[in-house]
Amino acid sequence: MTFIRDMDMTRAAIDHRLHAFRGRCGELGLSLTPQRLAIYQVLASDDSHPGAEDIYRRIKPDLPSLSLGTVYRTLELFEEHGLVSRVHAFGDQARFDANLDSHHHLVCIRCRRVIDFQDAQLERLPVKPEGLNGFRVLTHRIHLLGVCHRCQTDA
Ligand SMILES: [Zn+2]
Ligand SMILES: [Zn+2]
Repeated sequence: MTFIRDMDMTRAAIDHRLHAFRGRCGELGLSLTPQRLAIYQVLASDDSHPGAEDIYRRIKPDLPSLSLGTVYRTLELFEEHGLVSRVHAFGDQARFDANLDSHHHLVCIRCRRVIDFQDAQLERLPVKPEGLNGFRVLTHRIHLLGVCHRCQTDA
């Protein structure tokens, strides 16, 4: 059973993430500046896993004093505190993910969207312990590379 969320996030889902984010910031003692909130809001409402420059371009009109460096530092701060995770889908610019549930990624090599998907079978990796040579696995995320349905119909 595969569930692909390939549409805009619902208002309720975004609100849920924002609510959890505010709560975590309070617990961590992180002040909620307008910049931090705006950066998180982009991530919470966009499941295509935007990068720092993309986030910067989107919120800069509303926050004229914002610098790209602040966006990078803020994303690093969020990552350090486990509020977002970093996605290395293309090996160049890091992309960021506000979805903290266990999930995997469909990576479109044409439009470079990264789409979340869940598959119960993938939660158990068919890797034998003897093949890991003592390595202790903490988590895993699988990236499937391909062409998304939008890009297939655009071709
Ligand atoms: Zn695509
Ligand atoms: Zn994701």
